[in-house]
Amino acid sequence: MARTTKHKLIIAGGGLAGLTLANAVAQSGINVALVAPVIPQPDGRTTALLAHSVDYLKKINVWERALPKTAAMTCIRIIDDTRRLLHAPEILFKSSEIELDQFGFNIQNKDLSAALTDSLKKYKNFSRIDGKISDAVENDENVSIILENGEKLECEILVGADGRNSTVRKLAEGGSGIAVRQWRYPQSAIVLNFSHTLPHDDTSTEFHNSSGPFTIVPLETNISSLVWVVKPEMAEEIMSRQHRELELEIEQQMHSILGKIKIVTDIQSFPLSAMNAKKMASGRFFLVGDAGHVFPPIGAQGYNLGIRDIEDLAAMICAQTSERLAVENIASRYNAKRRGDVLARTVSVDLLNRSLLSDFLPVQLLRTSGIIALTQSKTFRKMMMREGVSPGTGFGTGYKVFGEALQNIPRFFQPSKNHS
Ligand SMILES: Cc1cc2nc3c(=O)[nH]c(=O)nc-3n(C[C@H](O)[C@H](O)[C@H](O)COP(=O)(O)OP(=O)(O)OC[C@H]3O[C@@H](n4cnc5c(N)ncnc54)[C@H](O)[C@@H]3O)c2cc1C
Repeated sequence: MARTTKHKLIIAGGGLAGLTLANAVAQSGINVALVAPVIPQPDGRTTALLAHSVDYLKKINVWERALPKTAAMTCIRIIDDTRRLLHAPEILFKSSEIELDQFGFNIQNKDLSAALTDSLKKYKNFSRIDGKISDAVENDENVSIILENGEKLECEILVGADGRNSTVRKLAEGGSGIAVRQWRYPQSAIVLNFSHTLPHDDTSTEFHNSSGPFTIVPLETNISSLVWVVKPEMAEEIMSRQHRELELEIEQQMHSILGKIKIVTDIQSFPLSAMNAKKMASGRFFLVGDAGHVFPPIGAQGYNLGIRDIEDLAAMICAQTSERLAVENIASRYNAKRRGDVLARTVSVDLLNRSLLSDFLPVQLLRTSGIIALTQSKTFRKMMMREGVSPGTGFGTGYKVFGEALQNIPRFFQPSKNHS
């Protein structure tokens, strides 16, 4: 009979969230295993890491390894390119306005993943198991896990960092799954990197179009990454185009602000949707990252929010001093701490995205007024910038209160589906 290997904590998923949590927990000496399949296709995306996330990567001793591959973002420019009747003025945020050297750093996901993986090599209490979780059942003492290859594992806490279709989330609650609320957008994100003849000046530029944002983020000297949100049929058409033809279209879309461009990576397309789980923990099953919440790539929120899940969960687990983890207590505190933040971010990104798609004049008026307020009021600008880079520092407890209030609105509290 196959032997069962025991660990205190098992993490499912070797994406950015799983690797980050493994680093955070391993440094406190806890016996942790990461169950992760080999990723078939390299992740072509880049991640804009906001200041708070950078501080956390420093705290878990990963930043030194990532830093050489990053590019600083000192300015963020938003240009209304909707060509609608109500047109917002251009807005430029400078990190120096809030006494920061930069808002954050941009890095290719493959480079951040390599830094996180490399950093884990120093921990003797960490192990990586190549495979996928196919079943998990909890009892009063443990979670018994079976991998797709039949291998058996056991742990006190199982964390799903296994992405939007999380198996861990579906196996929780005795197999009925943690309920989710999810919806689709009529949009896809085209992702690629390109070289350019004019310097980016460490500035990220977001053009707001009526199909979604077209965002350029600095990557290396004269290289930037692009996330271009378009209608799904246009995404298909873009994917079939010759590079030269597409390069000209991209130059035109960004009004040639970076001069002539050349695509230097593969082009990938991501259909956009949103999801949030009703709970971030149930029994011995916990969720972090996209397993618990997904939204469109607007305002660099996905992994940055995932880092805050990880920060809270790792702190609660690592603070335990008794031989066995007080799982029930950790679960209820983790749920209480994460819910407001997740809901507030989901709703903010959703509203911003819908305000771009909407042709409804009052919605455009609201959006334009918001942007005008940002150009006029120094205090409001600073609050927005601080909240953006380090949640909780701009609006104080305001954002938390907003998130908590949302939990009382049935539309956001009641999940529409059990699980996908
Ligand atoms: C176009 C685009 C641009 C983005 N830009 C930004 C940005 O600038 N800043 C930002 O903060 N966020 C950004 N995001 C969001 C960010 O990329 C995601 O939030 C983040 O990558 C999610 O990481 P994850 O580890 O939670 O999930 P995933 O990356 O989905 O990883 C999950 C892993 O789990 C594995 N897995 C699945 N099932 C199992 C199983 N049964 N057992 C074990 N393992 C399993 C999978 O193989 C996968 O490797 C962007 C998203 C998109 C689409």
